[in-house]
Amino acid sequence: MAISFGHDRPWGGVSQREYRRMAQDPGHILTYRVHFAAIGWADRQGHAAFAPGKLAALLSKKGQPLSDQSTTGAITRAKQLGLVSPRSGAACLVLPSHLFQKGKGAPVPCRLHLDR
Ligand SMILES: [Zn+2]
Repeated sequence: MAISFGHDRPWGGVSQREYRRMAQDPGHILTYRVHFAAIGWADRQGHAAFAPGKLAALLSKKGQPLSDQSTTGAITRAKQLGLVSPRSGAACLVLPSHLFQKGKGAPVPCRLHLDR
C-alpha cells in the first residue's frame, strides 16, 4: 500500500536502524526513548512487538534493565503526549497511522492486538 498521510501532509523517511540505536541511548529522555523504540521496531501496521522483558532491556540504564514500574510509567507518559497510541503496552508499542506508515514488510498479525 502506498504511503499517504492525506492532502497537504508532506512526509519523509527515517532510518529505523538509527531509531533503534537512539532508543537504547540513555542520554535521551525515557519518554522519547519509548517513542524511538516504537518507530525503530514498527512493522507495516505500526506495531512494534517485544518479547517479555525485551523493551525494559532496551531501555536499560547502566546495563540494568528498567523495572516494570518504570517501563509502564514511561509508556504512560508517551501515551499522554501522543507519542504512541493509547493501545500501547510493554509487549507492543503502537503508532497510529497518522504518525507512521511503512511501505514494505509482510502484514503479520499482532499476537496482542488481534483486531487489526
Ligand atoms: Zn500490536
